[in-house]
Amino acid sequence: MIRTRFAPSPTGFLHIGGARTALFSWAYARHHGGKFILRVEDTDLARSTPEAVQAIIDGMNWLGLTHDEGPFYQTQRMDRYKVVITEMLATGTAYHCFTTPEELDRMREEQRAKGLKPRYDGAWRPEPGKTLPTPPAGALPVVRFRNPVAGVVAWDDLVKGYIEIANAELDDLVIARADGTPTYNFCVVVDDWEMGITHVIRGDDHVNNTPRQINILKSLGAEVPLYAHLSMILGDDGQKLSKRHGAVSIMQYDDEGYLPEAVLNYLARLGWSHGDEEVFSMQQFCAWFDLDHITPSAAQFNTEKLNWLNAHYLKLSDNARLAALVQPRLEERGVTITASPSLEAIIGIYKERVSTLNELADAAEVFYIDLHPKAEILAQHLTPEALPALADFISGVKDVTWEAAAIGALIKACIGKHGLKMPKLAMPLRVLLTGQTQTPSVDAVLALFPRELALKRLAVAPVN
Ligand code: GLU
Repeated sequence: MIRTRFAPSPTGFLHIGGARTALFSWAYARHHGGKFILRVEDTDLARSTPEAVQAIIDGMNWLGLTHDEGPFYQTQRMDRYKVVITEMLATGTAYHCFTTPEELDRMREEQRAKGLKPRYDGAWRPEPGKTLPTPPAGALPVVRFRNPVAGVVAWDDLVKGYIEIANAELDDLVIARADGTPTYNFCVVVDDWEMGITHVIRGDDHVNNTPRQINILKSLGAEVPLYAHLSMILGDDGQKLSKRHGAVSIMQYDDEGYLPEAVLNYLARLGWSHGDEEVFSMQQFCAWFDLDHITPSAAQFNTEKLNWLNAHYLKLSDNARLAALVQPRLEERGVTITASPSLEAIIGIYKERVSTLNELADAAEVFYIDLHPKAEILAQHLTPEALPALADFISGVKDVTWEAAAIGALIKACIGKHGLKMPKLAMPLRVLLTGQTQTPSVDAVLALFPRELALKRLAVAPVN
């Protein structure tokens, strides 16, 4: 049984990198009919907040990355970590260390001065035949893991390949602080072990933790999971993705009008590929997803491609769903939506032309507001040449059958009569009706309006 986990630290929102890690872990479990576990790594009390936990859960819900177990909170598992520490002290895989932080600082300074790599000197590490110093009265010790000194720790990273570190490079990690609280790497180990995690899929900022975690797991007699370290995501500009790049929080993509399926499809291709496939559902993704086709090199964000995917999914979405997503965006802008023009009908003709829900809201907004087209745009398009045709059209509106084809026929008749090309009349109509020079086919746009409202907007034209 495959068991994967997503283990965010709730110190901020769910960002793009975290969402991709969650997606890959989720998809791997789904592919194998396994379990996906959500674990909240909230032991850093100073930086973890309930708001951040909620933001992460909201982000995962928005994406539809459902977990099978959890959320487990590390702060609620403290007793368990303490039991394991006590056992390790009893079996000798961990020991008390009374070296004070000041002593450690001094030690490091001296080592640096000698050009050595700073590390704990092992003063309190028990060794056969070694006499340990006497613990200072009243001092509270930290607990250190007794890391093997000889040999190497190695793993076959499922993304990065074989990685090997000499144990001599690793000093004895503090697993519990003087106040008894367990440290980050230790909690991860106990959790991965007790939660039966088979595949640890996470960002490659954790590669350095892996040898320590493997050594502790081995000392506990735990089965070591397989590791897949995902390379980082760079911004459009090739720099490390950061707040500078704007939409870094997953929920900001929602704010900006992206559909979750577009974001998911986009994230799936950030560092993973299946031939040349670019557009696929999550069902298809889970069927395909494996760890063999993840690239070890950094993936670069490409906003244009995300926009392209979003446009694709907008076209595929039905109008009622999009209307439900656009409506709150319009309400936020203070726009009152009326039954006619119908928001669904507007969306039906505009969704082919936009990349985001916000652009759809922009397009829809002009149908509901008290429109005042800009004077200079009116002047530019309502030319003396166009006005007679426009006048004929306006008087024809009263009697024409109010649907696109008949309206289109009326437009053609008017330009025919005055010997004009289509844009000469279509442009003034667009501008009068929407204030914009670019719209879908103008007969279709006209048909969206109730006849009275169309007439009201056309009445701005200086005809008669
Ligand atoms: N809590 C860590 C983070 O948010 C992830 C730890 C892990 O996946 O092992 O970066």
